[in-house]
Amino acid sequence: MNIHTSETLFKEAEEHIVGGVNSPSRAYKGVGGGTPVYMKKGEGSRFIDVDDNEYIDFLGAYGPIITGHAHPHITSAIKTAAENGVLYGTPTSLENEFAKKIKSAIPSLDKVRFVNSGTEAVMTTIRVARAYTGRNKIIKFSGCYHGHSDLVLVAAGSGPATLGTPDSAGIPASIAEDVITVPFNEIAPLKEALKRFGDEIAAVLVEPIVGNFGIVTPKEGFLEQVNDLTHETGGLVIYDEVITAFRFNYGSAQNLVGVEPDMTAMGKIIGGGLPIGAYGGRVDIMEQVAPLGPAYQAGTMAGNPASMAAGIACLEVLEKPGVYDHLDNLGAQLEKGIAERASSHGIPVQINRLGGALTVYFTDHPVENYEDAENTDGEKFASFFHSMLEKGINLAPSKFEAWFLTTAHTEEDIRITLEAVDSTFAEMTG
Ligand code: PLP
Repeated sequence: MNIHTSETLFKEAEEHIVGGVNSPSRAYKGVGGGTPVYMKKGEGSRFIDVDDNEYIDFLGAYGPIITGHAHPHITSAIKTAAENGVLYGTPTSLENEFAKKIKSAIPSLDKVRFVNSGTEAVMTTIRVARAYTGRNKIIKFSGCYHGHSDLVLVAAGSGPATLGTPDSAGIPASIAEDVITVPFNEIAPLKEALKRFGDEIAAVLVEPIVGNFGIVTPKEGFLEQVNDLTHETGGLVIYDEVITAFRFNYGSAQNLVGVEPDMTAMGKIIGGGLPIGAYGGRVDIMEQVAPLGPAYQAGTMAGNPASMAAGIACLEVLEKPGVYDHLDNLGAQLEKGIAERASSHGIPVQINRLGGALTVYFTDHPVENYEDAENTDGEKFASFFHSMLEKGINLAPSKFEAWFLTTAHTEEDIRITLEAVDSTFAEMTG
């Protein structure tokens, strides 16, 4: 495949943009490097790159794109918003309309607030939980990414009840001291951490269905216990639903698992592809937020008309009957097809799938937490990724990411993708 223009653009980008990219994973470091392909057009399930190569896209922009690229209903809503002026700094009725729409789909949200990214949404839920409880520490689960604010870029300590260490330069050790990281899907370490630090814990932050070391669902009873144990110590439970809100159902993962948190952070899909974040929860907690309460959070761009209009339009597409069945049906075909081909080529894989999102791990053991995901074959994934890209299939460049299907994907897309999988597996074993 000729990607000369991408190569030239990446060289130029490296001169002007740090690392050549505006978000690190786009630089392909997770798959042994290479030249990131520069796309110039997205339409439905397809991309065209700057050298006119066509791809079937399963990256879905890391999650937000669930209706396919340039969905006409969303595009038209964005056009209208743009024609009316994209930013006012005053309230608009779109904010009310969108807030009501999200609340009606996620019953635990008494009140919401719109922000500009998932990072902001999670960061603010933690601040609000701290304001509400008067406590400082949080517990999170290893391998779960919650954006790039200081408090959540902290790695696990050496044991479940030890404090974390910064995962990035520039984060003071004093901040990391407020974070305890425990393994997902295991109750004993969480219990131990709560026993040791319980009266200092403002919140336990969890992705109810993990999307960040691949798709990992909670074990039976895990989330119920997270709620019970946290509440027993007087802390709050925050769900990070930045990936999961509207991904598997019209609503959120909490509706699927049947356990409600005290607060929820959202992003990605709810912006219809434009920048967005949102958080919400119980009214007595949300009333901590300015201008009603002492926890400050603001934003020049927050609730901007373009993001609101795109988000409303996106949910209008998603609430149509059959949408999630379509995603699930194609997801099942993809899962089955990949598993069959892996088995016929003698390549051990584990596929974790929920609805239209799945992760293919190169391993023969089940993946239930971060350690399991880490212990999968990254080199095999890297060759798989590059070979699939060469064949016109655009995946996320990391063994920890998911494939995201969209309403625009078709059975024909799956057929073509499985052909590419088959010849890729043949190359990998040949
Ligand atoms: N939380 C989760 C679960 C995420 O997957 C992400 C982004 O990938 C974030 C938070 C941060 O969102 P954003 O990139 O919009 O800041």
